[in-house]
Amino acid sequence: MTTTSPFPHLFEPLDLGFTSLANRSLMGSMHTGLEEEKGGFKKLAAFYEARAKGGVGLIVTGGISPNTRGRLTPLGCQLSYFWQVEKHKQVTEAVHKYPTKICLQLLHAGRYSYHPFSLSSSKIKSPINPFTPSEMSARQIKGTIKDFAHSAKLAAKAGYDGVEIMGSEGYLINQFSCVRVNKRTDEWGGSIENRMRLACEIVKAVRAKVGEKFIIIFRLSMLDLVEGGNSWQDVVTMAKAIEAAGATIINTGIGWHEARVPTIVTSVPRAAFTWITERMKKEVSIPLVTTNRINTPEVAEQVLADGHADMVSMARPFLADENFINKAKEDKSNEINTCIGCNQACLDHVFKQKRASCLVNPQACYETELVIEKSKLSKKIAVVGSGPAGMAFSVYAAQKGHQVTLFDKSEALGGQFNVAKQIPGKEEFYETIRYFDVQLKKHNVKVEFNVEKSANSLIEAGFDEVVLATGISPRKLDIPGFEHSKVKTYLQVLKDKEPVGDKVAIIGAGGIGFDVACYLAEGKSLTTDKDAWLKSWGVDQDFKENGALLTESIHEKTQKEVYLLQRKTSKVGGGLGKTSGWVHRATLQKNGVKMMAGVTYKAIDEQGLHIEVDGKAQLLAVDNVIICAGQEPERSLYQSLVDAGVSTHLIGGANVAAELDAKRAIRQAAELAMTI
Ligand code: FAD
Ligand code: NAP
Ligand code: SF4
Repeated sequence: MTTTSPFPHLFEPLDLGFTSLANRSLMGSMHTGLEEEKGGFKKLAAFYEARAKGGVGLIVTGGISPNTRGRLTPLGCQLSYFWQVEKHKQVTEAVHKYPTKICLQLLHAGRYSYHPFSLSSSKIKSPINPFTPSEMSARQIKGTIKDFAHSAKLAAKAGYDGVEIMGSEGYLINQFSCVRVNKRTDEWGGSIENRMRLACEIVKAVRAKVGEKFIIIFRLSMLDLVEGGNSWQDVVTMAKAIEAAGATIINTGIGWHEARVPTIVTSVPRAAFTWITERMKKEVSIPLVTTNRINTPEVAEQVLADGHADMVSMARPFLADENFINKAKEDKSNEINTCIGCNQACLDHVFKQKRASCLVNPQACYETELVIEKSKLSKKIAVVGSGPAGMAFSVYAAQKGHQVTLFDKSEALGGQFNVAKQIPGKEEFYETIRYFDVQLKKHNVKVEFNVEKSANSLIEAGFDEVVLATGISPRKLDIPGFEHSKVKTYLQVLKDKEPVGDKVAIIGAGGIGFDVACYLAEGKSLTTDKDAWLKSWGVDQDFKENGALLTESIHEKTQKEVYLLQRKTSKVGGGLGKTSGWVHRATLQKNGVKMMAGVTYKAIDEQGLHIEVDGKAQLLAVDNVIICAGQEPERSLYQSLVDAGVSTHLIGGANVAAELDAKRAIRQAAELAMTI
């Protein structure tokens, strides 16, 4: 070991023979949306350059299609023509100012293409896409292999150090390798040798085009996590063939996009799937990369030290903090802005065709637009409220050189994040509070707790600017019996830990209603018990069946009987995040929570909650009714400050409580700080 780093395995260079990587970190492929934006490559170059400057060893770009029909969306990014090379050079030249290497990911979406011209191994529609693919002819298959090789050649011309061939997550190559979609009877279907032929032929064709001194990563689906997925023997056969075909590195793919096992959301235990890469290490001799929910240098180091892989792939952690690697190297891992696995600003944006960013780092993918520069004038600024909005604003403003004092009436930093982190599976939210705590100290922000600021005290102190980040108050409802002792707010339950009976009705099925239901019904958190978590979601670590799924999941339910109610007639939980909502719904279903839509609340009394559904009266004979019916802004100080002529700003919940989340709160904080 050549380094004295606190993370010796993470910082050990990796010799690939013809080239070497500075350390064992790989920034996993992420589509940002900049790829398709007008002028987006300049911004993309700045995005990748920041990560290269931050010390990452190897970057893999977002998926780029080798041909038109393989594009993810009708106008999705493709690399097939010489004229496209120039824009990619902006990226590679920016990255190569640093010792970081960069590979272009080649991704043919197959039946995941969101357009009517999609192709697949067989004509079978995916459950997550309305378009039915056409079955590829043998000619189209051969053409596609050539297209991959041609794109790889163009990638080399553009200055990339290699390519990653996307063979997992249920995309085209995976659609060929598994019988789930591949029903062919020709040389491309049937036995594993036939089903993996497309993958092997692509690797061979790419190698033939680019020569020996070019990195070829193959992303292999080691756990399909779907019915009709491959057996372990199939996966091993394929890995060996991919190695023989000329791949330099094999990266681990976990689960098809249509799998009903969560693989990356916050409730997935850290490094929950690295055991499968460890298993593969006995089978091949080229370096293996492991992945999924590795979000701190400590976890990355442990995975490498345990011999689970030769490299670790982290994607979202580099959105959250571009300096992740350098901070780890300097033994400052407590200064890292940790990815909390929420998906709210990254994947949820991409699925809505919006530019990706990061909830905890709104500058991600906005490197050239959301710039915090030193201010010419150092102002005296008061920030009231230390929730996400107040913490973030204070740090950004202090970075600009302002003198900031942050007040909170409570005894701790974090506002509602202190409540969110109590929910089973949301423990990561603690990391955001830890990050801001360290940054506030680092930037000399004066923090005063247990101080309920009045407008007068702020006026008298003579601040140049006052920022109100005072958050929200839970909404009060106009239901007969609302004052009954059965009724509790979510804060009484989650924050004050008031006891709750075994039969509970929750009014309001937004994010907080779901979280309260999970808190009551799930009981203990499984995020620190990997084995129990995997069993609970039906994953078989012994890999007895194809796809590594258990015939039945093993999950312990609590005794609580929980009803989660909403007035809307739409699907309960329909408004939750695109990529995480289904996990919340499935978690509650596993715990027997009864979700009801189209409810009218009539009254609360000794008997319980009286409701009407479809015109029929019902009594839910519950011990408690918990109110999770949204919030109102808490900004009682605002008008007096404005009337006194104080320059006052509202951010976060204090500004607009409706549809507020931490993503908006933190972004608004950054945008205000930029202008002050
Ligand atoms: P808050 O977090 O409410 O902070 C306001 C602060 O102001 C508090 O600390 C309060 O003590 C202080 N304050 C108020 N008045 C005064 C005064 N006069 N003087 C001094 N201090 C004062 N959001 C997401 O994006 N994703 C999630 O997954 C998510 N999960 C959640 C789960 C739960 C259980 C809860 C309760 C919330 C969740 N949220 C989530 C919402 C998120 O926490 C809020 O949107 C966010 O905290 C709002 O930030 P804020 O800074 O505006 O206000
Ligand atoms: P919310 O998402 O706005 O949900 C409020 C719920 O209360 C809705 O289900 C609404 O449904 C109901 N409601 C509203 N007014 C009502 C009234 N007068 N009487 C009865 N019911 C009423 O708010 P929230 O759950 O409080 O969450 C606050 C914010 O935190 C949200 O913006 C959310 O994004 C964020 N959050 C996110 C997550 C996450 O996982 N991403 C988790 C927690 C919180 P009906 O009108 O149909 O009854
Ligand atoms: Fe991680 Fe959430 Fe940021 Fe995405 S938005 S990178 S999941 S913290």
